[in-house]
Amino acid sequence: MDRNRLYRMIPKVDVLLENETVEMLAEKYGHGIVMDMIHKEMDRLRELIRNTDDSENIEREICQLPQAIQKETEALFIPNVRKVINATGTILHTNLGRAPISRRHAELLADIVSGYSNLEYNLEAGRRGERYAHFEKLICRLTGAEAAMVVNNNAAAVLLVLSTIATGGEAIVSRGELVEIGGKFRIPDVMKQSGARLVEVGTTNKTHYSDYEEAITEETKALMKVHTSNYRITGFTESVPLTELRKLADEHDLPLIEDLGSGVLVDLTKYGLTHEPTVRESIAGGVDVVCFSGDKLLGGPQAGIIIGKKKYIDRMKKNQLTRAIRVDKFTVTVLELVLMEYLNEEKASENVPVLRMIRETEETLMPRAEKLAEMIMRENVAAEVTVEKIYSQVGGGSLPSELLEGAAVSVHPLGMSAGRLEEAMRKSAHPIIVRTAEDCVKMDVRTVLDEEFDTIARVLADILAGGN
Ligand SMILES: *Cc1c(COP(=O)(O)O)cnc(C)c1O
Repeated sequence: MDRNRLYRMIPKVDVLLENETVEMLAEKYGHGIVMDMIHKEMDRLRELIRNTDDSENIEREICQLPQAIQKETEALFIPNVRKVINATGTILHTNLGRAPISRRHAELLADIVSGYSNLEYNLEAGRRGERYAHFEKLICRLTGAEAAMVVNNNAAAVLLVLSTIATGGEAIVSRGELVEIGGKFRIPDVMKQSGARLVEVGTTNKTHYSDYEEAITEETKALMKVHTSNYRITGFTESVPLTELRKLADEHDLPLIEDLGSGVLVDLTKYGLTHEPTVRESIAGGVDVVCFSGDKLLGGPQAGIIIGKKKYIDRMKKNQLTRAIRVDKFTVTVLELVLMEYLNEEKASENVPVLRMIRETEETLMPRAEKLAEMIMRENVAAEVTVEKIYSQVGGGSLPSELLEGAAVSVHPLGMSAGRLEEAMRKSAHPIIVRTAEDCVKMDVRTVLDEEFDTIARVLADILAGGN
């Protein structure tokens, strides 16, 4: 093979720059980036000539050089973060961005962040304001707390609470509550970071009042409760109720703090789920400082909400750490909107997507699954399409033992395996994330929006063309 002849076939840069396609790219995306892509593609061709022997293929590649440059350049301008359709049925899917925000809230957000806002400006007084002021009264109204503030996520909230209240001293936690949450959030490790020493009491399954009592020393700075949000210990178990811990804390003049994990503001038993301790219950039970996530069962943006006695919240607002983990205008804006929905619980259950999805039952989901199945079948896909009952999870480390009854569209492809179909759906221009089982792709409609049905049908039509 005459490699030198092939090397010579690669056009010179100035010749390429006169090519119509490349000229158009430079015009649209800028000269610099197009030059980068030209050099990158040329290097690739040289390497191809050096390392392969298929001269026909190499010649073809050389002829296609402008198209390859176009593809590489355009790819740079397609955002990597994309909308995906969550057909897994897992409502709080941490890998898929946890809680979805309603379109109305997203539109209000777009309006606020595309201009300036009163994020830290008091419009009444005409001077600097506090970024927590926008929702502090609202959170207090909804939870019964005296004061509130918000940081980037609940992991940061726990860190701030401990480093404000217990740094340099000890915090007592039950061994049954030494939680690890997904993404390597471990209570013992967070404690170390905060400068507080962890004192573990009791055993994995049982912790008694006396265990806490005997662990209290001069060094003790707080009693801490952690909600075991992502696991359940069943069988012979015992933990100390809040009221008892409150009594103990009072006797020793210690603050009682609680990491609630998921911040539930409504009583989930109304939706047929098992009881999950609500934020209001913790405050009513006398906890001094409670923290919880904004994007778990609350259904809002990623945030760590800290509420409780004003004297502690004030100290946290002044902690230097707060500046490093403070929330931005996106979070502040959406959080206020979502919290506002909770002023009317009935409205919240319709307008907060997470609550709406939790509330759906097999009865309401079955007709939706049938509609989606029909839309898919209308595309004459090469597959067997059926509707069936399915169980889904809340996810996000919330309500681990709860299975929600729902409905799914099951697609058994005829010309390929379910694994291949799953991959093609995931890699399509409109990525769809599904489960597979029994050589079928299963789409749980609980987490799919009605407005996404059309896209699903079209993507499947593309992948499974040719059925009849
Ligand atoms: C989820 C969770 C956290 C971490 O919250 P993020 O908002 O994900 O940072 C901390 N503690 C408990 C108990 C949790 O359930």
